[in-house]
Amino acid sequence: MHYAPVDPGSVPALPRPEGASVWPEAAAWSNAARPCHVAVSPDDEIAWAFFPLADEADVAAAVATARADFEARWGDEADHAERLAILARLIDIVAARHEDLAQAISREIGAPIDFARARHVTAALDHLRATLDAARLAEDDASPWNAPEHRVRYEPVGVAALITPWNWPLNQVALKVGAALAAGVSMILKPSEYASASALIFAECMAQAGAGAGRFQLVLGDGAVGAALVAAPGVDLISFTGSTAVGRHIAQIAAADFKRTNLELGGKSANILFADCDLDLALTQGLAHCFRNTGQSCNAASRMLVERPIYEAAQERAAEIARDYTLGAPADAGGHLGPLVNAAQYDRVQSAIRTGLAEGARLLSGGPGRPEGRDRGYYPRPTVFADVTPEMTLFHHEIFGPVLTMTPFDTEDEAITLANATDYGLAAYVQTADAARADRVSRRLQAGMIQVNGASRAPGAPFGGRRQSGWGREAGLWGIRAFQDIKSISGAPRIG
Ligand code: NAD
Repeated sequence: MHYAPVDPGSVPALPRPEGASVWPEAAAWSNAARPCHVAVSPDDEIAWAFFPLADEADVAAAVATARADFEARWGDEADHAERLAILARLIDIVAARHEDLAQAISREIGAPIDFARARHVTAALDHLRATLDAARLAEDDASPWNAPEHRVRYEPVGVAALITPWNWPLNQVALKVGAALAAGVSMILKPSEYASASALIFAECMAQAGAGAGRFQLVLGDGAVGAALVAAPGVDLISFTGSTAVGRHIAQIAAADFKRTNLELGGKSANILFADCDLDLALTQGLAHCFRNTGQSCNAASRMLVERPIYEAAQERAAEIARDYTLGAPADAGGHLGPLVNAAQYDRVQSAIRTGLAEGARLLSGGPGRPEGRDRGYYPRPTVFADVTPEMTLFHHEIFGPVLTMTPFDTEDEAITLANATDYGLAAYVQTADAARADRVSRRLQAGMIQVNGASRAPGAPFGGRRQSGWGREAGLWGIRAFQDIKSISGAPRIG
């Protein structure tokens, strides 16, 4: 790992770090003239590390290694037990590196350290454990018709490229790597360049768990490296989490060679508050679900739809709750929000807030610029807009920052129409005391994941969306199956 805090002005003159861009040394690189991603602290805007970028030759070498590994393991019946043993060891090793991983995530994306410890690393561990549980129960070679001469087998698809975003960096890596490991593919992980530090520690954990070169490789790099992996002959499947724009591009390139894709993309999820809900709880949880991780969550509950009789009271209380949020340095202990990840993300949030004001949305709290007392760092102001209509950009655009919109509705039908009026379909949230309505509305919402009255998803529950939020599912058995092909065998009962 090469964490070298430096002054941004001196970046070009610094020696490049030593190390490999492919983990482990599948494609060693020479120090000279290797381009690097310069990691800049979201808190003080000072560069603190260099991470080498892989090039096309590294990608080709990684794919060749993965291919050879897959062909060598293909048909090895003992591999199933071996990969579950690696996964079990990985869980213990990641748990032992909890603090290192939390520190890396806090530093690279600006997550407050307590949040990084309690949520980022813990979520990743929960996913790994749920994947192991699902893998132990999975029927990989069975007869669904109770006729032993007819069987269905689930087999690893081949070489998989895993491309992940920065926003929940370890969580996304764990979801994919755990499932890919259990499924038996040979994988190449390309994490976001903004999350290279936590990915490198995770790669060390994989090596320590016994996932030798070939079964797992890490390629550091930016979008160009991801694109090289997508296009590389020898890659059978691309599991991508990231923006809808990049997902669309990947789907088009992959289709040309019939590569399979699993796409976990953006969202603009509705949170419906009916008049019979516990308003204070619904607002406290609703704002938390929008602002958590400084709004940088794909399933953020960013569009609040409020039944007219409680709309006025909801606005007042939402503004109060938003004003109580504090922002603070990633390294400081406490329950504050951290900065946004980088300058581009800060600009994107500022531009969304300015657009909201220009289009006539009513500002209840927050607004453009940094919070008082801060003149550097990518700190936004937690912002709430009321009277946001479906005609406004704010209603549709994934902002990926702490910006909540509030929209009134009069009937249950109208709430459902408004909630479904989006190109996305990742998540939706419902707050009501009426169990029959909770069930009815949940069934009519067009989204991959519905959460009622703050209930969390069960460990291993399928994660993913529809429409422009992508296709495929992660987590639990669904995550494992996403890396497998189905084979039907007739006339050959399983022997042994
Ligand atoms: P992004 O699309 O910019 O980048 C995601 C990854 O793709 C990164 O590793 C990046 O280097 C790589 N990449 C960029 N261009 C590429 C290309 N042309 N070909 C191949 N790879 C390329 O997204 P981001 O800014 O890192 O993450 C934020 C986005 O991710 C948001 O839209 C968010 O909603 C989405 N997201 C979705 C989920 C989900 O499960 N649905 C979860 C987390 C984040």
